[in-house]
Amino acid sequence: IAGLGVSKNGPNQTSDSEEAADAANPAETSLLMKIIRQGLVESKLDIEVQRKNPSSPLYSVKTFEALHLKPNLLKGVYAMGFNAPSKIQETALPTLLADPPQNMIAQSQSGTGKTAAFVLAMLSRIDPTKNYPQVLCLSPTYELAIQTGEVAAKMAKFCPEIKLKYAVRGEELPKGTKITDHILIGTPGKLLDWGIKFCMFDLSKIKVFVLDEADVMIDRQGHQDQCIRIHKCLPSTCQMMFFSATYDSALMEFAEIIVPNPIIIRLLREEESLDNIKQYYVKCKSPEDKYKAICNIYGVITIGQAIIFCHTRKTASWLSEKMSKDGHSVAVLSGELTVDQRIAVLDRFRAGLEKVLITTNVLSRGIDVEQVTLVVNFDMPMDLDKKADCETYLHRIGRTGRFGKAGIAINLIDSNQAMEICLDIEAHFGKKIKLLDIEDAEEIE
Ligand code: ADP
Repeated sequence: IAGLGVSKNGPNQTSDSEEAADAANPAETSLLMKIIRQGLVESKLDIEVQRKNPSSPLYSVKTFEALHLKPNLLKGVYAMGFNAPSKIQETALPTLLADPPQNMIAQSQSGTGKTAAFVLAMLSRIDPTKNYPQVLCLSPTYELAIQTGEVAAKMAKFCPEIKLKYAVRGEELPKGTKITDHILIGTPGKLLDWGIKFCMFDLSKIKVFVLDEADVMIDRQGHQDQCIRIHKCLPSTCQMMFFSATYDSALMEFAEIIVPNPIIIRLLREEESLDNIKQYYVKCKSPEDKYKAICNIYGVITIGQAIIFCHTRKTASWLSEKMSKDGHSVAVLSGELTVDQRIAVLDRFRAGLEKVLITTNVLSRGIDVEQVTLVVNFDMPMDLDKKADCETYLHRIGRTGRFGKAGIAINLIDSNQAMEICLDIEAHFGKKIKLLDIEDAEEIE
């Protein structure tokens, strides 16, 4: 695989003011979760399959051997440490590799093995004796394209004849270039330029078209139209693969334009629940008072690790300064950090180097740290209308079956508005949030 000199800049930093609440950016969140992931996310739930064309057979495999891959590709898969297909791969791979090719729409949460599945399919469809692009893979951002390319490079470790090129910003080709690489991975704009504007490759010769992170894609201005323009130039025989972590009607409308007669597979995520969580609220008069509440809690219970959610970066940094001065080892994760910095913070926290992680909303979902026993809402989660944001509350506090250990959640309430949010959340989930008398905090142990 062509080793492109790709620089590893993080995505553009946001310039939000410190006062503003940190909103999660889907492309960044997705990238971060990919990078910090430590292996597969598996689900106990069953896979759901929908066939538009009932005559197409459906298989599922339990081993990679059963897929009859080229030997060097199978070697690459094993070299990555994959012993058996993940749940989504069991069902997706036979379809993706079938002859005649079949179209697929697949949805499952991040970390369940989608990328590995379509990369394997892409690689196995290449005819390396033909020196022109045969596979197009569209990603929503530069960074996500590079991540996918790196998976392809690893998997094709023993297939040096397969060539890959990134079609991303910074990659410039002289006019009149004819691209000879087999796989192009890139963003829609660049692929549109190379394929349609400058005719550097022939879209009518593409055999496989992959749309990765489709939900992030349609979130980005203009990307959807660019995808559709590229898609229009593809031959009707081209195999279409469409992957997404979420599933809603806007996305499915887009999917139906891109993918005719698909097999649709979905792996539902295991729902987070509040079942094993003891929830409390503490009445406070001021931010200082909230800080005292945290200190009292620390005085009373033995805490493994804790995550504290604040609404703004300013609060987060104020709190971290105070806690550090008091001798707590504290890490801060907020929106002004680059992706690389966030990874470093999370790695240290995971390793237990800091006991407390103070964060804004940048990553309410995805911080699956098993050792965390306490979650504090320094500020209650609210939406743009300043109403209770129950979904975010669940992501912050809830645990999935996998991390089913008991936990404690404490909400610090310093206004009527915060109290109202707390009551709304309590009503929404039908789970009691008890008043905690901080002087008498023994009861929480
Ligand atoms: P997704 O695209 O759904 O986010 P990935 O394909 O990136 O998921 O896989 C998530 C993680 O699991 C990656 O670290 C990947 O290397 C690993 N992985 C993927 N498939 C397997 C497998 N069959 N066995 C073990 N690990 C796997």
